[in-house]
Amino acid sequence: MTRNLVIDAHADTLLKLYFSTLMRFSSQEADPLHITKEYLEEGKVDVQVFAMFVPPKLEKIGLDVTLEMISLANNLAQEEGYTIITSPTDLDFLSQNKESSTGMVLSLEGAIAIERNLRILPLLYELGVRNIGLTWSRHNLFGEGVSFKDKQGGRGLSKDGILLLEEMETLGMLVDVAHLNYEGYKDVVKHVNGPFIDSHSNAHSVCSVSRNLTDEQLEMIASANGVVGINFYPRFLADKPEKASIEDVIKHIKYMTELIGTDHVGLGSDFDGIATTPLGLENASKMKEIVPLLEKEGFSKKDVQKIMGGNYERVFRKIWK
Ligand SMILES: [Zn+2]
Repeated sequence: MTRNLVIDAHADTLLKLYFSTLMRFSSQEADPLHITKEYLEEGKVDVQVFAMFVPPKLEKIGLDVTLEMISLANNLAQEEGYTIITSPTDLDFLSQNKESSTGMVLSLEGAIAIERNLRILPLLYELGVRNIGLTWSRHNLFGEGVSFKDKQGGRGLSKDGILLLEEMETLGMLVDVAHLNYEGYKDVVKHVNGPFIDSHSNAHSVCSVSRNLTDEQLEMIASANGVVGINFYPRFLADKPEKASIEDVIKHIKYMTELIGTDHVGLGSDFDGIATTPLGLENASKMKEIVPLLEKEGFSKKDVQKIMGGNYERVFRKIWK
């Protein structure tokens, strides 16, 4: 019997681990973490995407930081028993073996690591990186991120950005447009053939912060057969962030599925990258609580499975080789 995989498409746990060697070896001491192997198991999360984000101050040594994070991810996988997954075959293994361990997917949040030399990309692929967020909320060689203040503005992808998309397609890497500005979004639609994802963004119509997506952007993702993952950051969830709860996550899911259908929405918690969490989703152990709330809203079992991970699984299988 195969199981339906539950997938969280974005977390910044590796950055927290990078900054704190103390937390590295014991999830017991790592209580401040939103994501530990135990939490993921308790929350019934089968696959966690671990992003590698290079903070602005470390940009100059972006490749070093990224390589160290990959090394941290490997240590974590070995010590806590994650399986780093890179292919449809790996996804098969996870879904066909009920007792298999939690899957770990490596992703870049912002392509800073390859800014100086795009020829390094195949090496990152060899090291297991499968998804790349083109930008964070700032400018880089490849394009511009949406600012935290202003929804509009900025140029589209640069020549290098378009080249990066081509290289990624050749290798079988998935494009993540989270944080990318509107002009960049349009360029991705124009230049990417397969589906792409926005791993951790919400609906602007529900909560009008610049990082959230307009209906037009949501439709762009759907027209490419891609997926957008709901971000749990209270400020992106609700106009009164101090009151944000798991119900607001459901609100964004409802809004998006009504607009673009149930095939294009997933989860991208942003755990360990967010300073506060919504009530009812304090860490990864609570992920399973989303299921009964979706059922209560009238989503079918099949649609719940898609939203909890099936949609992301479909796209991962399509792009990864
Ligand atoms: Zn982010």
